[in-house]
Amino acid sequence: MSDHSSSFIAKSTIKAADKEHRRKINFNISKYNAVVPIGKQQFTNLELARERAKNIKWKAIETLDKQLEAFESAIAKRGVKVIWAETPEEALNEILKICEAKKCSTIVKSKSMVTEEIHLNKFLEKNGIESVETDLGEYIQQLDGEAPYHIVTPAMHKSKEDVAKLFANKLGTPPNLSPSQLTMVAREKLREKYMQAQIGITGANFIISDIGGIAITENEGNARLSCAWPKTHIVIAGIEKVIPSMTDLALFWPLLSTYGTGQKLTVYSSIITGPKQVNETDGPDDMYVILLDNGRTNILADEKARESLYCIRCGACLNACPVYKNIGGHAYETTYSGPIGSVITPHLKELGDWKHLSYASSLCGNCTEVCSVKINLHELLLDNRNEAVEKGATSFAERLAWKFWKKAMLNRTLMNMGSAKIKNWVVNTFVKDWKKHRSEMEFPKKSFNQMWKERNKG
Ligand code: SF4
Repeated sequence: MSDHSSSFIAKSTIKAADKEHRRKINFNISKYNAVVPIGKQQFTNLELARERAKNIKWKAIETLDKQLEAFESAIAKRGVKVIWAETPEEALNEILKICEAKKCSTIVKSKSMVTEEIHLNKFLEKNGIESVETDLGEYIQQLDGEAPYHIVTPAMHKSKEDVAKLFANKLGTPPNLSPSQLTMVAREKLREKYMQAQIGITGANFIISDIGGIAITENEGNARLSCAWPKTHIVIAGIEKVIPSMTDLALFWPLLSTYGTGQKLTVYSSIITGPKQVNETDGPDDMYVILLDNGRTNILADEKARESLYCIRCGACLNACPVYKNIGGHAYETTYSGPIGSVITPHLKELGDWKHLSYASSLCGNCTEVCSVKINLHELLLDNRNEAVEKGATSFAERLAWKFWKKAMLNRTLMNMGSAKIKNWVVNTFVKDWKKHRSEMEFPKKSFNQMWKERNKG
């Protein structure tokens, strides 16, 4: 068992028994569940919309090289420097070079999971550069020294009382502020940072190939400020974020908003195609786009797993997953948690170290059911398990157990030999983790096979 696997089991065991944690998550997810059906009403044919989105992403990913080259050539014409980074180290070094050239001491950052993936904040801190998260949820998480808990709602596991207490501890505010008062405190603090920052860093919800643009969707205006206020804007995005045309946004923006937060559209939707041009008065002087691979081409090379690159990070599969709802986002110890995280992490990192995530699923299929772009998530989890076995990433004991199980399952006589007593003994002796929080399993005295025979005799 890998260290990550042991740690996952330990953390998820604690969280699964934490009723207060479950209460907060259920409360926040119930609010999400209440608004999503309202957002869905804007589609006359939702199934068709999801199918179309999947087809567009299929086209984008199947022609990824061409799409990215078209994007680069179009955006470079407006003065943007496009940087290709194969690894997190390459991306971090490029960012550091830009920071040094711009004599940067403060960065404002808008929420971006890719920057979490490359651990940008820690890297900048080590290099003496202050990096401030400007999305309210991310700001809360940064104040608390925690990673985001969810890909759309980073502080989903905190109640308003938790946030008030955190602000009181870290910022010295009264401990009983209301959510709107807390927002005003954050707003005031962040405004100062925008004034100081030399560089703004954002992610990209979509990379638009035909016009050479970046699409960003948000609710607080912080991404827009991060792009436009500082003199330099750096975008960092995974290469899979591409969509072929600007017109595709007519489908993807409402789809992402509906499945992400239940809105028809988020409050701010921006398309950025370059720095300030000669005839323009606002915007940054320089703009860079870093296109990050970091294992994505491994997924691209895998015909089955490739489908996971269609993900638009709406977070719906996390909200629907019974495992995520019980153990929460931090137990995964990955940037991307929940079903999509369990699918892609073993490919982005080491299969042997992260294969356990593919087993952290009841295979109920709820994730596939709710996915905005119809990714067959639960089947991809099964494919990951299969790949782990094929590549010999499973333990000898596990292989042996399955071998015996298969032999018995394929042989009626052997199966009939297993009486209720034997089954009880095997399960209650060897499946120790089951018993930690539950009573012993007790199989019925007669098997289905016996009962069926008896019934037919009668
Ligand atoms: S896999 Fe589907 S449901 Fe999950 S985050 Fe991605 S697009 Fe959303």
